[in-house]
Amino acid sequence: MNIAQLPTPALIVDFDKMKNNIHEMQQRIDALQLNLRPHTKAHKSPTIAKMQIDAGAQGICTAKLGEAEVMAAGGINDILITTPIAGKNKIQRLVKLYQQYPDYRFIQVIDHKQHIIDISEAATDAGICIELMIEVESGQQRCGVEIGDDLISLIETINCSDGVSYVGLQAYSGHLQHIKGYQERNTQARTVVEDLFNYINNVLTPKGLAPEIVSGGGTGTYEAYQGLGFSEIQAGSYLFMDTTYQDIGDENDQYQNNQFDVTLKVLSTVISHPTPQRAIIDAGMKCLSIDLGMPKIESDDMLSYKTGGDEHGIIHLIDNHEPLQIGQQLILLPSHCDTTLNNFNTLYAVRGSEVIGQFPIIGRGRSD
Ligand code: PLP
Ligand code: MN
Repeated sequence: MNIAQLPTPALIVDFDKMKNNIHEMQQRIDALQLNLRPHTKAHKSPTIAKMQIDAGAQGICTAKLGEAEVMAAGGINDILITTPIAGKNKIQRLVKLYQQYPDYRFIQVIDHKQHIIDISEAATDAGICIELMIEVESGQQRCGVEIGDDLISLIETINCSDGVSYVGLQAYSGHLQHIKGYQERNTQARTVVEDLFNYINNVLTPKGLAPEIVSGGGTGTYEAYQGLGFSEIQAGSYLFMDTTYQDIGDENDQYQNNQFDVTLKVLSTVISHPTPQRAIIDAGMKCLSIDLGMPKIESDDMLSYKTGGDEHGIIHLIDNHEPLQIGQQLILLPSHCDTTLNNFNTLYAVRGSEVIGQFPIIGRGRSD
């Protein structure tokens, strides 16, 4: 099938370039002598997760328990859930994952004593042991216990509670991923976790509380972490990239990241052309997230996108651009891959203009 036959708006991925991105990141992480545990919030597809594992990844991350349920059902057997969970129902679902897949590994991130008390109680009742990773504050001021006595107290609480075990620390600095400029970004990424590694070396290790795993890093910061003490990198967006990530620069280019290709795109159709300077497409906010800015039009800087609301995109034609045709397809490059993907049920794999397959986005909407 040709992409011209796809009903739009449609989410498409350049399959060969996506595979290249998978291998490129794996090689780069291997060269840093770290493990890659890709964050699958980007794609929400067990099939793509398998491709990442086949390329050498050490398990995966999911943001949410619901995504972990989807990935486990799809046969992914080593999952780190990177967001704390709260409440009896959620904890019972975590227990159920352990019971349903006794040979799989699930690690749950926590950052509060109450998490430990509640998970320990449910796990003890079920006769299982749940692996816990403690999130530490690493500059973002989101979740994460402060480094110091509160961290020690959490580790010791886990160590003396039944039904739970301490496997390590998560330090993810999400606020630094999009800093423009390679040097600046990597310097900040390293600086913000220096206290943590000093603390591990000078306080935790002598007390016998050293983490087995230290997990963190993203597509923007993974290179900062060689030799620091991280064991695994949680990057996710490298698979698809987006225009925001493209603009952060790399080791050779201050303004453009050429390490990975932009592979995720939205195919849309011109549905109206009210004036010579303004055309309308069928892709609005219900398919293109604009939290990080407007999408770009592929290979045409003289067309600019503005949101037209839920279901419309307004295309401005700059400098006497020749008119578009009603029914003509336009390809858009999203500004944020994660939130765009979550709007679709299907990701079509394309090679050139041929549709060569499709990935059901099974984890779509599973933020529960
Ligand atoms: N780890 C955590 C905890 C995250 O929240 C995210 C993304 O938001 C990632 C890893 C992946 O980072 P990126 O998509 O920037 O590669
Ligand atoms: Mn994101």
